[in-house]
Parts: sequence; C-alpha cells; structure tokens
Amino acid sequence: MGALRKRPDGAIPFSVEFNPPRDAAAEARLWRAAREFERMHPAFVSMTYGAGGSTRDRTARVTGQLARETTLLTVAHLTAVGHSVAELRSIMGTYADSGIRNLLVLRGDPPGDPLGEWHQHPEGLAYADELVRMVRELGDFHVGVASFPQGHHRSPDLDHDTRFLCAKLRAGAEYSITQMFFEVDDYLRLRDRVIACDPIEGAKPIIPELMPITSLRTVQRAEELSGRALPPALMRRLERAAGNDPERNRDAVRAVGIEIATELGQRLIDEGAPCLHFITLNFAKATSEVLTNLGYTMSAAPVSA
Ligand SMILES: Cc1cc2nc3c(=O)[nH]c(=O)nc-3n(C[C@H](O)[C@H](O)[C@H](O)COP(=O)(O)OP(=O)(O)OC[C@H]3O[C@@H](n4cnc5c(N)ncnc54)[C@H](O)[C@@H]3O)c2cc1C
Repeated sequence: MGALRKRPDGAIPFSVEFNPPRDAAAEARLWRAAREFERMHPAFVSMTYGAGGSTRDRTARVTGQLARETTLLTVAHLTAVGHSVAELRSIMGTYADSGIRNLLVLRGDPPGDPLGEWHQHPEGLAYADELVRMVRELGDFHVGVASFPQGHHRSPDLDHDTRFLCAKLRAGAEYSITQMFFEVDDYLRLRDRVIACDPIEGAKPIIPELMPITSLRTVQRAEELSGRALPPALMRRLERAAGNDPERNRDAVRAVGIEIATELGQRLIDEGAPCLHFITLNFAKATSEVLTNLGYTMSAAPVSA
C-alpha cells in the first residue's frame, strides 16, 4: 500500500470503510458519501464483502465502479468463506478487470451466524494466510489483512493470535487493519506483541479502525463490530447525554459520540498510528466532523497513491 503518506496539511492519512448497499436507495446513499469523501482525500476507501448471493454481485459491481468512476483508491475485501479456490480466482479477476490492485484478504465468518462453526469449502481454503499466499502468487495485488487488538474470538490466547497474524504478514500482507476497539492500550499492546513476534514483519503498519457513535442504536452495532461491550465509562457518558429521553436528547448523544471518537483518534495520532480507518456505515458527516475536530483540512490537495 503506497498510500500511507502524510497529507499536505501534515496530518496522518485517513481512510474509510463502506458496506455493500442492499438496494437502490442504499446505493444512492453510498454514492453521496463517496462523492463527499472524494473531496476530503482519504488515502483509500475499502468495501466490505458479504458472502450472500445477490449482495455479492452488487458488491462486485459497486466496488468496480468506485475504482473506475471516482478518484478514490479502492480496496476490495475478499473473504475465503463459502468459496472454492476457482471462485476466489474469478472474483479476483473481476476486481483486476476494474483496475483494483488492493485487496483486504480475510477468512470471513459463517454467513448468518458469525460465531457459528466454521466450515471450509471442500475446494476452498481454511485460513486467511493461505488466501494471502494465493493472491500474491496470482497477481500484482497489494494485500492487507485483519488484526485484532483484543485477540480474535476463535483464538485460544493472545500468543496464538499474534503467531497467526505474523503468519499472514510473512505470507505477503503489507499491512493490517484492526477490528474496531475503544481501548487504545489494546492497540498499543497488539503493536508490541507483533513486533516481539517478528521484528521485521511485525513492523508493518497496523491501521486502527474507529467508528463514531451517533446514537444509542449505533452502540449496539459498535459492540457487534468490536466483539466487546462498550467500556462502562464511555457508556455512562452516552447515557448521561441521553438522560430520560434519548429521542429528545439525540443531538447531545451524537455530540458525545463524536467527542469519544475524536479523543480516540487524537490518542492514536499521538501514539504514532500510521492512518485512521473509519467505519462509516456509508455516511460521511460523522467521520468528517471527527476529522475536523482533529485539525484535518478537508480541502488539502490529493495525496498521491
Ligand atoms: C478490518 C476488518 C475487516 C473485515 N471485513 C470483513 C468483510 O468484509 N467480510 C467478512 O465476512 N468479514 C470481515 N471481517 C471479519 C473477519 O472475516 C472475521 O473476523 C474472521 O473470523 C477472521 O478473519 P481473519 O482473516 O482474521 O482469519 P484468520 O487470519 O484465518 O484467523 C481466524 C482464526 O484462526 C486462527 N488461525 C489463523 N491461521 C491459523 C492456522 N494456520 N492454524 C490454526 N489457527 C489459525 C487465528 O488466530 C484466528 O483465531 C473483517 C474483520 C476486520 C478486522
């Protein structure tokens, strides 16, 4: 990934994550967000991948369009779950035809129940490091992988987790993007663990993932995505803002959510994070407010990739 350079305004780069739109209205919303982000010059945008049938086709089409029809450097997520090797090759071919050269390579979770038993496709792959190797062998792709500040939910302990993250980096991944988290110390400990595991490979960028909370409803989404309950101190701040009438006080809740994401972002910048990656749920406003609070100049000229 050649895009992780400081911006002309001196800030570290930022990037954003989109989700595949489910219908035409959601697709229109995604495009509005994409056009707004285009003006803010993210280092890259990434598009998550769902294994479900019709969403899969829409994902491939929209991801290709983002790459072809915008100035955004597009990273397509690619998951092994439910696919044969031949299907994975074909998806990669579709992305390559759209000019996509950046993939976030993942094992994926069982569709329907992310915590359910994982079954390898009979002609597929078992772990993400195998897919990293395959992608690197097959084409001229830059590859990122997932990392988990508090350990992956299937890892028996943090040593196991770190060992297999290092295996993905050794297989050819150039960076990782973390699962979303709310405790910066967990991110710092992950960084230390990976360096201790492999001083060369472990020095590759670990991009922290954040999500601005904009309502009490998004707390639930944040907890699903981070795999953890929100730390009690943060939950108390949101609840205080919500008071007895969360609906009436929704602006106050949103303001606290933006404040929390700003604090996390600032601490990560101070600790030397290489980039801030935002889960956007296909909206630009909250992320742009956090970036403005952090001193980003949105009109800064594009950073060359
Ligand atoms: C930034 C980010 C983006 C994501 N995007 C998507 C998405 O778009 N679509 C989607 O479906 N999911 C996505 N996920 C979720 C991800 O697919 C799941 O968390 C999945 O369970 C793990 O994927 P992985 O690539 O880390 O798997 P792996 O690296 O294969 O690890 C899975 C588990 O197996 C262990 N392990 C790895 N290799 C071995 C081995 N050789 N032997 C024994 N154990 C091993 C690991 O320690 C870990 O516990 C994303 C996650 C993150 C953090």
